[in-house]
Amino acid sequence: PKSHATRIALVTGAASGIGKAIATRLAAEGACVVIADLDLEKAEAAAAELGSADVAIGVQANVTDPLQVQAAVDAAVLAFGGLDLVVNNAGLSLSKPLLETTEADWDLQHDVMAKGSFLVSKAAARVLIDQQLGGDVIYISSKNSVFAGPNNIAYSAAKADQAHQVRLLAVELGEHGVKVNGINPDGVVRGSGIFAAGWGANRAKTYGIPEEDLGKFYAQRTILKREVLPENVANAVAVLTGPDLSHTTGLHIPVDAGVAAA
Ligand code: NAD
Repeated sequence: PKSHATRIALVTGAASGIGKAIATRLAAEGACVVIADLDLEKAEAAAAELGSADVAIGVQANVTDPLQVQAAVDAAVLAFGGLDLVVNNAGLSLSKPLLETTEADWDLQHDVMAKGSFLVSKAAARVLIDQQLGGDVIYISSKNSVFAGPNNIAYSAAKADQAHQVRLLAVELGEHGVKVNGINPDGVVRGSGIFAAGWGANRAKTYGIPEEDLGKFYAQRTILKREVLPENVANAVAVLTGPDLSHTTGLHIPVDAGVAAA
């Protein structure tokens, strides 16, 4: 066959937040989706929200573990017959200044985001190359991969690693017709487990505002004065992997409502 009848997608960290919004958008466009996350129950619940097991399945996969990553890729092939689109979304943020960042903090940030993305891209690339049907790899990196901010050296350095993986793999997988692009979100407060798990409290303290005002605070800092929602990031995935951007690879799209230069 020239292509799969419907697109088959694997989204990591898709039981929550941005990843869940991406899985939802791709399913709405008719894709079959594998939702991979740390917690099987949460992954299965997120998949069930999208429909039956013909449309979406949840799998347990810690992206730092090559065997679990391989099992997630195998699950896509077994359940839906292949793979067309992979989204490296799994992540976490410890948000600490340099002098409080431990070696273990550094290792965890890099294990999940830099190594995890590498393992997922590698396992997926084998399938994409074998199929000879092209495909897409997307990295959910961050504004922090480009801009410097306070209290997040380990997170931002791992995000910058992901950004360079995009450029490197765009070159390496391009000859197989596989496009590799990144998205740099910023300020997604609502729906984000990262914000709920402490990043929100940390940022609110840093800026001296109540945590519940953080979404509005971030919106006011943007050029467009708009709050960024998980759906806005999902829209960018749809565009980057859709038919209109068939000739774009190695690109990072900001989804941050605009960052002023000064
Ligand atoms: P989230 O916590 O809602 O989602 C992250 C998901 O990744 C969770 O479901 C979590 O269980 C999963 N995860 C964590 N470690 C994992 C591992 N080792 N293996 C598999 N899954 C794992 O947070 P979110 O805000 O939706 O973040 C999603 C991605 O977007 C992250 O990579 C984050 O760095 C990036 N990002 C978010 C923002 C923002 O403003 N929220 C900004 C820039 C980038």
